Amino acid sequence: MDRNNATALVIKDFGSVKIHSFVAPYAFAANATHIIETSNELVIIDTQFITPLAKAFKSYADSLGKPINRVFISHGHPDHYFGLASAFSNCKAWSLKAVNKIIAVWGPQMIKNQKPSFGDLIPDEVIIPQFVVTPGTEEVIDGLSYTYEAVESAESELQLLIKLPELGVVIAQDLVYSGVHLWLGMGWFEKWTVELKKLAQTDGYDYILAGHGMPATKDEIHNNLRYISTAQRLFEEGLEADVFKSKLLEAYPHRESPMMFDLYLGFLFGKMDSH
Ligand SMILES: [Zn+2]
Repeated sequence: MDRNNATALVIKDFGSVKIHSFVAPYAFAANATHIIETSNELVIIDTQFITPLAKAFKSYADSLGKPINRVFISHGHPDHYFGLASAFSNCKAWSLKAVNKIIAVWGPQMIKNQKPSFGDLIPDEVIIPQFVVTPGTEEVIDGLSYTYEAVESAESELQLLIKLPELGVVIAQDLVYSGVHLWLGMGWFEKWTVELKKLAQTDGYDYILAGHGMPATKDEIHNNLRYISTAQRLFEEGLEADVFKSKLLEAYPHRESPMMFDLYLGFLFGKMDSH
């Protein structure tokens, strides 16, 4: 038994379709990866950050006994694509054209940056998704419809948003943080707010797969909106990074993964460059 290293597994059962969410421990930012299981195949969403978790996620996928049709990578942040190299290198991977480019350009540097802290916990090289998803299109995979959208300048420069209209499921990944502190490295508070409001107003979707934390309902979108608004106010007060952190922690004492601040304060306060 190990409370701090416990992963979570949530299964939403739609009968002929099951959605499995594999969520990393809070200490590892609660990275959430998902499997869409249809009658004959699996579709994977994101791949975890550290190698042991990527491998555990892959073992779980293998235990379902169905072939992996593909892996979707939601965006170009390493906590979502490092696992592609460490555990899913035999799979075909897809993302938006510009996300694939971001991974190609930034990936090797990300490995270099993270190696001193994580060593063998991360791969030695990245794998760039080989296939391109076109936003504004729809596709049927093993009998289930997937619609593809691109979201710009929210949590990251660009991300893939996938909806499963027949199930009322939106694969929001890092557009929505569930129960954990948000990664605010880009500081695009207003643009992120616009995208969250758009999602909140989209009817017919009541199961939200977040990129960090447990699957959520639309209520979590409103929690995120309030959080971003508080963060923006504090940031615009011109506080030092550590004061900003302590005030936001004070405002949200019940959100998990406070280590998120260590992952983004250097970017938000302009000491490091991100995308
Ligand atoms: Zn993330």
